[in-house]
Amino acid sequence: MSNTANTPPAAFNGGAAYVKGRFVPMEEAVLPVTDWGFTRSDVVYDVVHVTNGCFFRLQDHLDRFEWAMARRRLRPAEDRAAIEAVLHRCVALSGLRDAYVNMTCSRGRPRVHGSRRPADCDNHLIAYAVPWIDVIPKQVQERGAHLWIAGLPRVPDASVDPRVKNYQWSDLTTGLLEAHDHDFDTAILCDADGYVTEGPGFNVFIVRDGRVLTPDRGSLHGITRKTALEICSELGIEAAVTAIPRTWLEEADEVFTTTTAGGIMPVSRVAGRILGNDRPGPISMKIRDIYWRWHEDGRHATPVRPLEPVA
Ligand code: PLP
Repeated sequence: MSNTANTPPAAFNGGAAYVKGRFVPMEEAVLPVTDWGFTRSDVVYDVVHVTNGCFFRLQDHLDRFEWAMARRRLRPAEDRAAIEAVLHRCVALSGLRDAYVNMTCSRGRPRVHGSRRPADCDNHLIAYAVPWIDVIPKQVQERGAHLWIAGLPRVPDASVDPRVKNYQWSDLTTGLLEAHDHDFDTAILCDADGYVTEGPGFNVFIVRDGRVLTPDRGSLHGITRKTALEICSELGIEAAVTAIPRTWLEEADEVFTTTTAGGIMPVSRVAGRILGNDRPGPISMKIRDIYWRWHEDGRHATPVRPLEPVA
């Protein structure tokens, strides 16, 4: 579907995608069932958000995506500049001012029928812009999320590198199922040695004796986590990336989670324990306020390029 005017076709309203070199409305963004991205979760992806018409930390997300693709030996046809242009165009076509913007590279399908050689596959880029998503709903963020500590351990870092953003979510989804079975909002996983890692779609922070701490293992190096650490540095709050035993999470003064799709999301209960007065803690709220103030101030902002006519 081409667009010769600066006004996007109505079919793109509220969501636009790029699949196999074409811009399509969201409902046309589909994969063959034999794509290894589907049959083997053989993909890497990244998510950047757009607030008020601007990407936040776009270059950080592109850096991480490029690094992850290289780690998994995935090479789409598009180079970095082309990927960036695709993201801009998806958002512009969607007409969204606040958006969740996904970029994914899939292994694709083998050119030779039945081949088991990854090198026989044509890797391909998928991207889309859809309305903003909160991984923890806004009303839950307001009261503070209730965090379940999952019974199963996070998959070992040596088996699946958590720094490569991936869709191998079996352990994280099991954690979510457990959390919902117990009427909790979401889950956090520890590793097999009992150290805190991360949750389904977010990093975690604890506040302990005035220090803000986040796990040094089992976790994606989140861009929101990086922003939270920068905010702590500006506020003069001592912060560290360190080993966090499960008991520190259970005894924490405050807990908050971080992700692109939600920002800084406070927690008010961990397992059976109520934190503070069962509301988001003051340090979490301060960091959250500044996170959104940085957006208002245009820090790390890249305006979405207006739609250019396609010949
Ligand atoms: N951890 C996992 C497993 C995630 O999927 C995500 C984001 O989707 C995060 C952490 C947070 O990363 P970021 O702040 O870069 O969105």
